[in-house]
Amino acid sequence: MVIMMKHYIDQKICIRCGTCDVECPFHAVIISDVGMFSIDDNKCRDCNICVDVCPVDAAKKKTE
Ligand code: SF4
Ligand code: SF4
Repeated sequence: MVIMMKHYIDQKICIRCGTCDVECPFHAVIISDVGMFSIDDNKCRDCNICVDVCPVDAAKKKTE
């Protein structure tokens, strides 16, 4: 069985700085009408850049 390790953004921690959106090479970050940041599983390629650039560790890798 293949384990998918997609990424997500913890809404309780995210300060909505936009860095992940700027840095994601696959344009996988979604910004909602009310400015909430999330990640599109269909576009995310698990490069981990958002985790590296997020200043508050709100971008995380799913491990299950
Ligand atoms: S892991 Fe990479 S592809 Fe996925 S949202 Fe983060 S920066 Fe974008
Ligand atoms: S870089 Fe981190 S704090 Fe900034 S918008 Fe993305 S998830 Fe939120």
